[in-house]
Amino acid sequence: MSRIPFIAGNWKMYKTGPEAVETARILTQLCSNVQDIDIIIAPTFLSLPLVAASLEGSNIKIGAQNVYFEKQGAFTGEVSADMIKAAGAEYVIIGHSERRQYFGETNALVCKKIKAAIEVGLKPILCIGESESQRNEEKTFLTLDKQVSDGLKGFGLDELKDLVVAYEPVWAIGTGKTATADQVKKVHQYLRSLLGKLFSKDFADQTRIVYGGSVKPENVKELMGIEDVDGALVGGASLDANIFTNIINYDI
Ligand code: PEP
Repeated sequence: MSRIPFIAGNWKMYKTGPEAVETARILTQLCSNVQDIDIIIAPTFLSLPLVAASLEGSNIKIGAQNVYFEKQGAFTGEVSADMIKAAGAEYVIIGHSERRQYFGETNALVCKKIKAAIEVGLKPILCIGESESQRNEEKTFLTLDKQVSDGLKGFGLDELKDLVVAYEPVWAIGTGKTATADQVKKVHQYLRSLLGKLFSKDFADQTRIVYGGSVKPENVKELMGIEDVDGALVGGASLDANIFTNIINYDI
């Protein structure tokens, strides 16, 4: 089963609107010849419509970094799936470890957010990953199992057809520490078989499972060469269009 490589840049809380547009403009030029890879950038909510306009007609797609699960209402400071869609996004990152860690997001909340995203046709990027202490206590698989099972609870196969799963060990995010090829391989294999058990073998075979955690031009080729790794979710190294392009061109 061939899965299209998926390389996404999470710009976190960096870049003003004009800065985001400028980076997107450079990236569009540098990546204009890239084919057969899904390239996504996820700027802040404020920059979404601006970046979407500047990417029109290019081969780069847009994602949001978060979504609220309610459709609308008195939820000061929140942004709905409809609003994100209308701003031009195709994907939405859900359950990033920074949201779980600093904003108390639980697996149950993540599940509601995925539902809200799917209802409007946004493609969810479900982030999961163990903390350093969970890994040291040999609770990696237990943690991931719960994040996937609870995060995807109650969904039918049809609803999850565009799901992307991002395995991001918390201890590797923004730390410069990358998981070893062996660690990544074991987890991705485990996740694919878990999706098979929870849903179906076909679903597991078609779902992209990407790695995130200090991905850079120096390590992306090795990571992409690991069986069951279908792409990368990149934080820090996606902020510079040239560096991110080198990651996207991992195969050249
Ligand atoms: C991320 O934010 O999802 C991430 C993986 O960050 P970094 O690449 O900086 O570790």
